[in-house]
Amino acid sequence: MILLNERCKGCGLCVRQCPFAAIEVIDKLAQFKDNCTNCGACAEVCKFNAILEEEKSTSNVNLENYDGIWVFAEQRQGKLSEVALELLGIANELAIQRQTGVTAVLLGQHIKIISNELIAYGADRVIVVDNPDLNHYRTEPYTYVLADLIKKYRPEAVLLGATTIGRDFAPRLARRLGTGLTADCTELAVEPKEKIILQTRPAFGGNLMATIACPNHRPQMSTVRPGVMQKLPLDTNRRGDIIEELYHIPPEVIRSKVIELVKAAKASINIEDAEIIIAGGRGAGGQEGFHKLIELADMLGASVAASRAAVEAGWIDHAHQVGQTGKTVKPKLYIACGISGAIQHLAGMQNSSCIVAINSDPNAPIFKVADYGLVADIKEVLPVLAKQLQAVSLSA
Ligand SMILES: Cc1cc2nc3c(=O)[nH]c(=O)nc-3n(C[C@H](O)[C@H](O)[C@H](O)COP(=O)(O)OP(=O)(O)OC[C@H]3O[C@@H](n4cnc5c(N)ncnc54)[C@H](O)[C@@H]3O)c2cc1C
Repeated sequence: MILLNERCKGCGLCVRQCPFAAIEVIDKLAQFKDNCTNCGACAEVCKFNAILEEEKSTSNVNLENYDGIWVFAEQRQGKLSEVALELLGIANELAIQRQTGVTAVLLGQHIKIISNELIAYGADRVIVVDNPDLNHYRTEPYTYVLADLIKKYRPEAVLLGATTIGRDFAPRLARRLGTGLTADCTELAVEPKEKIILQTRPAFGGNLMATIACPNHRPQMSTVRPGVMQKLPLDTNRRGDIIEELYHIPPEVIRSKVIELVKAAKASINIEDAEIIIAGGRGAGGQEGFHKLIELADMLGASVAASRAAVEAGWIDHAHQVGQTGKTVKPKLYIACGISGAIQHLAGMQNSSCIVAINSDPNAPIFKVADYGLVADIKEVLPVLAKQLQAVSLSA
């Protein structure tokens, strides 16, 4: 804050207004202490216009030099993550409004082959770095390479999936580039006037949607929640450029070493990729109820999911939880058994193509999002359903 001495009367209004007790009046003049945060509360209240806000810090980044929407194409063992494809979908929407192109960045070893898949899902260009040090994700070599690519090509926005990898990688990258990052976005849009990206994410346990922008620094960076954005239909006729970049990553950059990869039992539960999901809630009544759901899921080739109430009751592992604090799923068929349909649960499954709800309470909110609803006791319905499925499979 800047004090205009000749105007200040030492009235002390600013002292009372300051939320940080960062001003005192000495010899009839306001004095700012070191803990002033430049919040501007004092300037607003000063009757004599004696306090001016210092110009808000702007970067000296020339925004014109940045162009293109980038997607970090996360892959594990040569298989692209679903969220990478979803990011290409939203990147295309943003790119149309920004009249620019979409680039996917693919880091790993022996992964060039999947560049074509990225093009078929909407990338105009794929930058591939094939390097043994990038074989398994590690923070340091990945940051080293992507930060360098960003400095070289200067994209205006970089999107990453809010996966465990993305959540680790993005903050390190943003810090290295000195730019802003919004984590766990559920909506991205282009602001029509300034053409900056508006990044919206749930905050305070989902009670507030915060829209955040990064007007003065580049690239604008976001991690995006998996399962929220729509991927484009696969189009194998799409054409794009593949650029290979070579890197020698200095050994001193890499401080971590992968000794062994252990696949946790949980990792095999990938409800995010399931086409059919049978989910149970408190209405499943207990572990026994979940065994019934698992049996039915096996018959249908489905995965089993759960509400938080069922997870907290200890009937099933958290890896199966769907919702705001669980996973976001988008199967072709979601069968909700004994789930009330709390907003935090709907947040994780309402984009499913077809939702079937079985609940004994006709007023349960789950019926509002269901395509088909059955008001019934699941203890009665599940055995009938199992019998019918058995009959179908026998006759097939
Ligand atoms: C910050 C925060 C984050 C949260 N995150 C999540 C999350 O990620 N996922 C999540 O699921 N929840 C989450 N919750 C909890 C959420 O608010 C609900 O409490 C929870 O989803 C309820 O689970 P439920 O539907 O299984 O249980 P209930 O709400 O108790 O519903 C049980 C339903 O089963 C029906 N029922 C009972 N018996 C039968 C029967 N025999 N046959 C048929 N129907 C029957 C009842 O009519 C009822 O509708 C979160 C809450 C907060 C505050």
